[in-house]
This record gives sequence, C-alpha cells and structure tokens, in this order.
Amino acid sequence: MKFSAVCHGKKDLRIDPIQDRPLLPGEVRVAVAFGGICGSDLHYYHRGAVGDFAVREPLTLGHEISGVVLEVGAGVSGLHAGQKAALDPSRACLSCHYCRSGRSNLCTNMWFLGSAGRFPHSQGGFSQHLVLRQDQVIPVADDTDLLRLSVAEPLSVGLHAVNRAGPLMGKRVIVTGSGPIGLLTARAARLAGAAEVVTTDVEDAPLAIARTRMGATRTVNVVAQPEGLAEFEVDGGYFDVALEASGSPAALASLFRVIRRGGRIVQVGMLPPGTAPIPVNVLQSREIELVGAFRAHDEFRLAVDLIVSGTIDVTPILSGTYPLSQAMTAMERAGDRSQVIKLHLALNEDIA
Ligand SMILES: [Zn+2]
Ligand SMILES: [Zn+2]
Repeated sequence: MKFSAVCHGKKDLRIDPIQDRPLLPGEVRVAVAFGGICGSDLHYYHRGAVGDFAVREPLTLGHEISGVVLEVGAGVSGLHAGQKAALDPSRACLSCHYCRSGRSNLCTNMWFLGSAGRFPHSQGGFSQHLVLRQDQVIPVADDTDLLRLSVAEPLSVGLHAVNRAGPLMGKRVIVTGSGPIGLLTARAARLAGAAEVVTTDVEDAPLAIARTRMGATRTVNVVAQPEGLAEFEVDGGYFDVALEASGSPAALASLFRVIRRGGRIVQVGMLPPGTAPIPVNVLQSREIELVGAFRAHDEFRLAVDLIVSGTIDVTPILSGTYPLSQAMTAMERAGDRSQVIKLHLALNEDIA
C-alpha cells in the first residue's frame, strides 16, 4: 500500500492510501523521494485555501519534489526504471497561445501539482507514487543528492523573478523578504551579476543566512531597524531593481521610496487576496516599472543544472526532514520562521 498527504480542509491533513493506475502513453510513474513544504502548502493546511482558491475536495499537497523513475508508459524514450530525476510540477498544455510563445507558466490550461486553482483540483506530489507526463521528468546523474534536487522548483521561481528583472550585471538590487523564495532570489541575483544585494526580513535568523550563505551584501531587519532603509531614499532612490518576495503590501509600498527613477520592481511574493495600495503618481512621474513574476518555465531546467553542478548551493535553506507519517508535525513546525527556512517530507525513506 502507498500513501499521500492529503488536505481535507482547514487543519485536516490525513495520510490516505492511494492506488496505482495503469500508465497512459507518454506517462511515467515515479517514487517521490523528498517534498519541500511551501508557503502555499501551509496556507492550504492552516486556512483551507490559498488566496481565493479554497479546498473543495481532498487535495494532495506538494509541488517541490524529486524522485526515482519506477515505470515508463508506451512511447516514452530517454527514461528508465531506477533513474534519479528532478520532477517539474508544471504540466502546461503545450498548445495554447502562451505555451507556444515561450511563456508556459501563463498557460491557460495548466495542471500544477498540489493546486486548488482548478476543479477538479490538480493533485500534488506529497505522494509515495506519482504519475507525471514524460516532459516533467528530468533525469539526473546517479550521485545527485535528491534532497537538494527537490529545491529546483523554488529556485526556478527565483531565477524567473531575476529574468523578469532584466539584466542585473553591476546593478544595485534589494530583495524584500528572506524566506526560501527571497533567499533563492537573492542568490540568483548575485549569479546574474548584481553588484549589491540588500535583503530585508522581520526575523534575524534568515537574514544571517542571507548574509553568510546566499549572497546578500547587506541585510536590514525592518522591525529591529524601522529606519534601516531610510539611507536608500536619498537622491530619490538607490536601487536599480527591487524584488518583492515577502508578500507584504507594506514592503511593496516601501520599495517606491528606495527605487531609482526608471527602476523596476518585480512582484514575486503572493500578496493577500484583494488589492494593495501603491503610489501610482510616483510610478508615473518617475517611470517606475512594476512587473509580476509567476512560477517559472524554462528556468526549471536551469535550476536543475545549477543544483546538480553545484553552482548554487541550496543547503543553507534546508532546515530538516520529517517522515510522511509526521507530515502534520512538519506542517505545524514549518511556520516558525525564527527556526525554520524550509522543511521537507521524506516520502520514501528507502530512497536518498
Ligand atoms: Zn513552492
Ligand atoms: Zn498552454
């Protein structure tokens, strides 16, 4: 018998049995090794919803996963049982306008693992066995660390945010929010050549990691130092690019005081449902650009390469691993930002 971690509603997470089904042509069955617990999983668990998407039927959570190929369907080439693989949670339609124009993250018919954004829901990856389309399975070398590899999805989000920012060589960058996405975005910004990366948060622990391990050149605790960003307001703003990764409307508004004329603000964090106030007259008169960044497309494969090659070390964001049977405990602990950056579930403890 195999099992999944399934959200049945607010604070109702169950370890439910699952049945293997026969594979269709082009499909691959994998054993999931590790699953990272994301902010969205925590929202489903604590509130029964993410933004406007409520859990309306049992939803298997999880989309930050890695694993091993178990079985391939008819017509699948280049994959075989026993292979380690990165697992892309995005199953885009590949035929809509956005897929055909290289922006498959905006696909109008997306099945993204572990999302209640459509009904029936798109079931997730906190599952011992999982069926994916072959293009979602990216084989890697046998000596790859599958725990680190499971960070490919959040890293891809940071890489996509940096791509949305435009060229960063020599630029001054601020990243608000130093959770997993903020830290990986800061690291990606340094990789892209940013000369300075200032990161902010309301906790000291993630800022210490940002400074010592993830490429931040300076950090500001905006609670301990409420005036910590004031020096960046002189001459109408210091930063060329701002990446908002906290999901806080106050953080977004604060960026309009520190961004240079003609600068760009990238919103990568998910704000609360509804609208957020921004100073549109400042945006207009200073020609500030405000752009969104949603998930990732080709950046997933880049994230896999950067992790496998060791170019980006994601170990600083790994805060601990729990067996599937303790998924509830992991969910409860994952929100403690003074102790935890990211927790993982080990779905199949015999794989590593
Ligand atoms: Zn995630
Ligand atoms: Zn599409």
